[in-house]
Amino acid sequence: MSKLFVISGSSGVGKGTVIKEFLKKHPDFRLSVSCTTRGMRDGEVHGVNYFFLSREEFKLCVDNEEFLEWAEFSGNHYGTKKSFVKDCLKNGDNIILEIDTKGALNVKRLMPDAVLIFILPPSMEELEARLRGRHTETEEAIQKRLAAIKLEIENSKKFDHTIVNDTVENAVCELEKIMCNNQQ
Ligand code: 5GP
Repeated sequence: MSKLFVISGSSGVGKGTVIKEFLKKHPDFRLSVSCTTRGMRDGEVHGVNYFFLSREEFKLCVDNEEFLEWAEFSGNHYGTKKSFVKDCLKNGDNIILEIDTKGALNVKRLMPDAVLIFILPPSMEELEARLRGRHTETEEAIQKRLAAIKLEIENSKKFDHTIVNDTVENAVCELEKIMCNNQQ
């Protein structure tokens, strides 16, 4: 039977890398492509990383109730299309949603069988050092991010599983234990 997994994690924790490595080994899992109103970053491709929508297009999808869940994060909108999830489940595919903790808890309310997994940094100190190491943000922006991260970690207490990303190999191995044992 196909299953829905939701993976969340603080920004800077490396969850994208962990999921990418997991998918290389498990092609029977599909990663959902969300819609967003944020600008495209270098190297990103429409339809691969996200469906990049204008605020008007996004609002139309909200009004037409096309989203399973949607949330605002750092001033941009992000949403998961109901049709994508429905099609995967109909095809018997396992799905991974990589979304924020608010979205994850909304999905759990709608689909109680969904398995929620949170990826933690090895420590807050290390995450803070990584954020500061980028030298791209003001002190105010860093403090805002750290506050958001603490809130995400607080929300993660309601998740089914947490994984510490100390090394990518260990985190992938932990993901495999959870995701491959959860299939009947
Ligand atoms: P980024 O802009 O760095 O790609 O993503 C910012 C945050 O939005 C991340 O925490 C990511 O997991 C979350 N996100 C991406 N897609 C969705 C979505 O469809 N719904 C929700 N609720 N969050 C999302």
